[in-house]
Amino acid sequence: MTFEALGLNTSLIKALTDAGYTAPTPVQQQAIPAAIAGKDLLVSSQTGSGKTAAFMLPSLHRLSEIDPAAAGKTPNQEMQAARARGERPRFKAAQPKMLVLTPTRELALQVTTNTDKYSVNLRRIKAVSILGGMPYPKQMQLLAKNPEILVATPGRLIDHMESGKIDFSQLEILVLDEADRMLDMGFIDDIEKIVDATPSTRQTMLFSATLDGVVGNMARRITKDPQIIQIVSAANKHENITQRVHFVDDLSHKNRLLDHLLRDDSLDQAVVFTATKRDADTIADRLNIAGFSAAALHGDMHQGARNRTLDSLRRGQVKILIATDVAARGIDVPTITHVFNYDLPKFPEDYVHRIGRTGRAGRNGLAISLVNHAEGMNVKRIERFTKQLIPVNVIEGYEPKKTASASRSAPRPGGWKPGDNRGGAKPSGQRTFSKPGAPRKEGSTTGGGYKGSNPRSTDGARRSYGDR
Ligand code: ADP
Ligand code: MG
Repeated sequence: MTFEALGLNTSLIKALTDAGYTAPTPVQQQAIPAAIAGKDLLVSSQTGSGKTAAFMLPSLHRLSEIDPAAAGKTPNQEMQAARARGERPRFKAAQPKMLVLTPTRELALQVTTNTDKYSVNLRRIKAVSILGGMPYPKQMQLLAKNPEILVATPGRLIDHMESGKIDFSQLEILVLDEADRMLDMGFIDDIEKIVDATPSTRQTMLFSATLDGVVGNMARRITKDPQIIQIVSAANKHENITQRVHFVDDLSHKNRLLDHLLRDDSLDQAVVFTATKRDADTIADRLNIAGFSAAALHGDMHQGARNRTLDSLRRGQVKILIATDVAARGIDVPTITHVFNYDLPKFPEDYVHRIGRTGRAGRNGLAISLVNHAEGMNVKRIERFTKQLIPVNVIEGYEPKKTASASRSAPRPGGWKPGDNRGGAKPSGQRTFSKPGAPRKEGSTTGGGYKGSNPRSTDGARRSYGDR
């Protein structure tokens, strides 16, 4: 299968060849011809499977076929013309042809960068990112050029819409990237408002890890007779990523083990995931003192600082990135060999996203979770979600005092709650013991599994990473 066979024009094919893409991935093979034909798409396919190109290539193909003569003057040109006529220029809203919504700034920038790469030979087509944290005048300048493609996080986009800076009446293509994640982050009302502002004649493409539940409902509301593409492949199971669990007794054991694992000869670059922004900072400081080149990445950092950190990571100046979930989304650095879960993620699907930071571009990766004995049940939840068993490893000299099998078969009653992952650090007075098999208290994560938990109940916490 080749990109030519999918019907893309020669300008795009040349850009792909220059980018080193030789053949379309499975999701691209299915999505591209359908999208060129103008169909709505609902697509689920895992991290790293090439979804950006799956929606951007057919869209660029379609946009490049629009007659430039019909496109009219840009807002900048109109304002200049008005000045020439001696009139006071009125700001005219940007009228994009395509909008891509993404959950985070990093992901939006990634999409824009990829779009620039694919559209190098299409001079007329420009893509810009509209993001929270970017200076307002700079965004106004970008909008005044009337770019064909906007890539945006929902919050900031709403601000511009409400102040009349963007007019979606000419929109032809709407893409929701990582739709499940946007809903998790509480963007549903913003998304509906944005969708309502676009013409009902638009083409809509929605990408999500799952098409069940809330996402599925929204997906069906905003699409017309969509083609559903669900890709289950080796890459989805992350078969090129070796996964391991190491049980730890307490925080000091965890830190010693992490330090040891980070000195592995096969480690080129690594991402260490923590549950909190504060831990990300603390661990980055500690690792720097220990002689590693480490940096933190989280939602409390200014956009400029986040970009600089990601650049240093890409250039190899930063070897170990300590990150929280949302900040690390969309990181695509092929030289990341290792992912560490210093804390387990709140949701099993975050685990899948995290480990997908390694094993990029067909390489192998290693994903290691450092797990307190009390968290055995959470490992099981992840295993149920990924339908894969994660082997438990023990390193000589770093053995846990308890055996792994004991940890796994006897999760602490009461289950695990967000933030409750500092082994041994809990005040003993708060521990609740009950006999195995006894009815569980409210808040237990066992039994109901992931589906039983309510992602919305954590909206407050997730929102704090958001992009408004
Ligand atoms: P997803 O959105 O599914 O997680 P991305 O679109 O971010 O995946 O793509 C993952 C990586 O694969 C990127 O580095 C991208 O440049 C690369 N890639 C995508 N399609 C191809 C292809 N057909 N050939 C080679 N590399 C590709
Ligand atoms: Mg993607």
